[in-house]
Amino acid sequence: MIPVNQPLLDGNEKKYLNECIDTGWISSEGPFVQIFEEQMAAVTGRKYGIAVCNGTSALEAAVAALQLEPGDEVIMPSFVIISCALAVVRCGGVPVLVDSDAATWNMDTGQIEAKITQRTRAIMVVHIYGLPVDMDPVLQIAEKNGLKIIEDAAEMHGQTYRGRQCGSFGDMSTFSFYPNKHITTGEGGMVLTDDEHLAERCRSLRNLCFQPKKRFVHEEAGYNFRMTNLQAALGVAQLERLTEFVERKRRMGQRYTKLLSGIRGLDLMPAGTDYAESIYWVYGMVLKDEVPFSADEAMLRLGQKGIGTRPFFWPMHEQPVFLKTGLFAGERYPVAERLARRGFYVPSGMALTPEQMDTVVDAVKELMDS
Ligand SMILES: *Cc1c(COP(=O)(O)O)cnc(C)c1O
Repeated sequence: MIPVNQPLLDGNEKKYLNECIDTGWISSEGPFVQIFEEQMAAVTGRKYGIAVCNGTSALEAAVAALQLEPGDEVIMPSFVIISCALAVVRCGGVPVLVDSDAATWNMDTGQIEAKITQRTRAIMVVHIYGLPVDMDPVLQIAEKNGLKIIEDAAEMHGQTYRGRQCGSFGDMSTFSFYPNKHITTGEGGMVLTDDEHLAERCRSLRNLCFQPKKRFVHEEAGYNFRMTNLQAALGVAQLERLTEFVERKRRMGQRYTKLLSGIRGLDLMPAGTDYAESIYWVYGMVLKDEVPFSADEAMLRLGQKGIGTRPFFWPMHEQPVFLKTGLFAGERYPVAERLARRGFYVPSGMALTPEQMDTVVDAVKELMDS
């Protein structure tokens, strides 16, 4: 079986982990945490980094730092991971959805303004699969309407938008370091910001809102979202190879596109736009309408040939957990719905070899010929 993802951990990971064990620093108090925060901030061009235990908690801390009133609205695409919508719901807010752009699979920024109401507080931009959101219109709309921006850059380590680092946009940005991201700490995440006040809030929320003077007296409900020194040690080792990893994934994506192009019935990962070139977080493809089987069927058949796959995100407006609460009743986002039903991705982890890639390509060709 060719797994859908396998990370590369053959740099200084072992050395730094051994340092943690030799010194006894394994909790969040260890020195790698701050080093990792400072290095991530430097790489993304931010002032502050707040390391947390995963990308989902990074989003939750960022939304909590905004101090939404119950019913306040946050605009985001429907085609995202549930972490984005959950962060808003858990903080008492309401996610308000827009559809995706069929060419980039990212949020259709042309739909944002129509969704702004008296209650809108923020826009959550979520860069999808390889290409960033078209940020210029989002920045303009946010500025004009006094809205905050949270940038979910979980899939965009090392990516740029018109030459500017992803993870540097808006009031706060978040990353995940899950093993399928370009940089991994096993589990891990980070909030980045230039705003001292927001950084302080996220730091406090991450650590149960302990108070500096009266430690065990709490004014606010915090979380334990702390990242351990062990995770941060991995992160520091991984970050040393960011440029190499981004290039590696780009080459991989471009090779897939070359080998798979021309196959009838398949739309491949969008390679680029005028503002960015894909970094191929995963290698995704979408079955054209004329193909008589669904993505589920395609994944089943590829699995029988030993190829690991994953489906695309399922849209937020079709999530039973939200529909049950009355959210998104009757809403339709046709591009998101189609991506969810026709899209899937193939093995594209950092450790994938050219031989494995060739096997995947052969299997996809066979599938599409059948
Ligand atoms: C992976 C991912 C997350 C969640 O990160 P976890 O570390 O798995 O909690 C959030 N947003 C996006 C866009 C992601 O790809």
